[in-house]
Amino acid sequence: MDLLTVLVLNLIFILLTTFAFQYILVIRFTNLYMKFPKFLISLLSTIQILFCISFPMTGNENFIFDLRLIPVVVGGLYGGPIVSIILFVVVVLARIPIGGSGVWVNFFNMLTVTVFISYISIRFRAFSLTKKLYTVFGIALCYSILIFLMKGEIFKDPSNLSFMLIYGLTLTIGILIVTYYIEIIRQNYFLQNAVIKTDKIEVVSHLAASVSHEVRNPLTVTRGFLQMLKDPSIEEEKRLYYLNTAIDELDRAEMIIKDYLTFAKPHSDIASSILVKEEIEKALELILPYANHFSVKIQRDLATGLTITGEVSKFHQCILNIIKNGIEAMPNGGDLFISTRERENGFASIVIKDTGCGMSPAQIDKLGEPYFSTKAEKGTGLGMMVVYKIIHEMGGSVEVMSIPGEGTQFTISLPLHHT
Ligand code: ADP
Ligand code: MG
Repeated sequence: MDLLTVLVLNLIFILLTTFAFQYILVIRFTNLYMKFPKFLISLLSTIQILFCISFPMTGNENFIFDLRLIPVVVGGLYGGPIVSIILFVVVVLARIPIGGSGVWVNFFNMLTVTVFISYISIRFRAFSLTKKLYTVFGIALCYSILIFLMKGEIFKDPSNLSFMLIYGLTLTIGILIVTYYIEIIRQNYFLQNAVIKTDKIEVVSHLAASVSHEVRNPLTVTRGFLQMLKDPSIEEEKRLYYLNTAIDELDRAEMIIKDYLTFAKPHSDIASSILVKEEIEKALELILPYANHFSVKIQRDLATGLTITGEVSKFHQCILNIIKNGIEAMPNGGDLFISTRERENGFASIVIKDTGCGMSPAQIDKLGEPYFSTKAEKGTGLGMMVVYKIIHEMGGSVEVMSIPGEGTQFTISLPLHHT
């Protein structure tokens, strides 16, 4: 194979595996990734190094050319010093069976690279995108020059100059593409997570007013009973009744606050199995004060025993966002229906239906776009975007049907949890 074919093949392999790694592990199975990040990065880079060394361009009996530098550098920078040292061992050992004086050249070059990367990797994460790109660019450039100087004497004729140029250029461009690519994927992901947090803070503050209102009722009732208990002539039976009612009311207030705080608290980001009925009931409990405030009656028909997979707190956030929109669509009161059932295709469906203002087709089209809101300063236009993002993350889909003036129906489909 000629040099360019080899380098392109190397690069495609590195890009594809990096892409799969970022999308599948870092984004979809974040928990797994978070448990063993160093191990997984080392594993990915090792596979890439072995591939590169297995499909090289043979310069002469002593030297081979490939893009093994890319996984060594990228893996080391993102994985940290320990990963960098592991990759050093891998790249040195993997080069030995091929033999030739290149084994030693590889050893010294990689040692230099590893020392530098171990040092810089501690700070690398905090670099800006431009600084990251400059860093990898610098490393690839220095490495190419190093190789050129060390192997220079074997390239006596001028055609070798173009050989080295192609090699150096592909290496430099390749490492820039891979780094850029990782950064873009990560930035998108973290940006979306930041939006989910912003939306949650928004919901929390919206609910706060109605929650505190709802808590005031039991407190007022309790106060009234306590007042009456002051009267010494009160019968024993009545006294007991007042006391019990006061305690019940306080319990209710406590429960409302507890639910609210559970939702408001920052969540732990751990996916687990979710009992659909139970969790929807918790969300309904939480939104009840808000619904009462708008005189909205919530009716439910929830199937028992449905289980899905995901992060409970994010699931609550979705359900709350949709119900909250439904309530807000009925400012003068109305009915909201929520029902769940199991479908034949291994999915659970959750239907949330309101009898509110509805949406025009143009509005439905815009639903889920960031900052699309018809509620002026009362809306953020983040709620539905977050819903779509979370449901897609959980492997599900959202369907909307709406008739202006009549109401809106959201249908969420989510894959059932397999045990
Ligand atoms: P926000 O509620 O902050 O406006 P959302 O992303 O939650 O942002 O909703 C975006 C827009 O979609 C709302 O402003 C509203 O116009 C429309 N919308 C969402 N749900 C409903 C609904 N159930 N009925 C009518 N309009 C809705
Ligand atoms: Mg909303």
